[in-house]
Amino acid sequence: MINYNFVHRIYFTPVQLHRMDASVSDMCWHCQQGRGTFYHKGRACQEIKTFWESVTQSLGKIIGYMVDCDPVMYLLNYIDEGIWSKHNKQIITTGCMTAKRMIATNWKDADQLKAGTWLQSFLETIS
Ligand SMILES: [Zn+2]
Repeated sequence: MINYNFVHRIYFTPVQLHRMDASVSDMCWHCQQGRGTFYHKGRACQEIKTFWESVTQSLGKIIGYMVDCDPVMYLLNYIDEGIWSKHNKQIITTGCMTAKRMIATNWKDADQLKAGTWLQSFLETIS
């Protein structure tokens, strides 16, 4: 469901809320430096980028191969069929879903988007 919500942009962004109420800022809730569009909130925000980089680095350490920090992979669950074993694809997919769930549940507050928090949530998910 989280992946569906991301693909279909279910979550309200600062820009959408600003269109409904001009008194609400359209700036990103996380960095306060970019307009809070879905693109910005999903991947362009530096805080989100840093989080995705830490997630893909951690996944790389877990499976023993470098995992590119590719938005097509982590947002759309597209994993090249020829490169990864089924087991590693499941680990990458689960890790990315865990990260997306964290982003969705912390949509307004990036303080919880840390590598350690992700790893703890990921381990709870796979156990
Ligand atoms: Zn931002």
